[in-house]
Amino acid sequence: MTFDAEAKMQFLFALRSKGVTDSAVLQAMERVDRGDYIQGYFTERAYEDMPLPIACGQTISQPSVVGTMTQALQVGPRDKVLEVGTGSGYQAAILSQLARRVYTVDRHRRLVRAARTVFEAQGINNITVFTADGSHGLPDQAPFDRILVTAAAEDPPGPLLAQLKIGGIMVVPVGQSDAVQRLIRVTRHEGGFDYEELRPVRFVPLVEGLGKD
Ligand code: SAH
Repeated sequence: MTFDAEAKMQFLFALRSKGVTDSAVLQAMERVDRGDYIQGYFTERAYEDMPLPIACGQTISQPSVVGTMTQALQVGPRDKVLEVGTGSGYQAAILSQLARRVYTVDRHRRLVRAARTVFEAQGINNITVFTADGSHGLPDQAPFDRILVTAAAEDPPGPLLAQLKIGGIMVVPVGQSDAVQRLIRVTRHEGGFDYEELRPVRFVPLVEGLGKD
């Protein structure tokens, strides 16, 4: 299947029916072809609303979860965004349509290299990809207007909270890695942080240190 008019219509319909209604987010998801971020056998299922396996034992998230998280992040065209957990690069590509600049980090070199190759092939030039333990954030690029964590942490990591601008928003799945986690939206204001619980989600865990490959 290719991301033709018919596939797009069904894809967008599924997103809307699961609560992704923001028109800028829907437009971004219509522009980015999820099939470009999946290799091999599973490309056939690229436009179905399900997570799929990628290299290094990781997963590309379910499109409706990508849509919900992106919508909750309220990204504006002047924003500098940090994503922790590049994975396939799909979520970063969506963010790149909405933000001024996206920094994304993964602990697996192999995933970083593959994502970079796709961004280059697609002519996306406002994403910078790093191999790093993203739980420390990116001190050299901080502070950020928006931070999106796409792996589950037991608590929102302190360094990431510290790298959020006043008025900034972070969306992060929180909870034990082997359980259903809660998607949390953190908003930073002058006096501290507000926490809002959005919905249950299931993500691979945020793991310390760099991966072997
Ligand atoms: N956003 C991705 C899906 C992420 S899967 C997409 O659109 O495809 C979660 C990713 O988080 C995995 O690739 C995993 O390697 C990465 N990850 C886990 N712990 C990490 C850490 N401490 N720092 C950076 N990346 C991490």
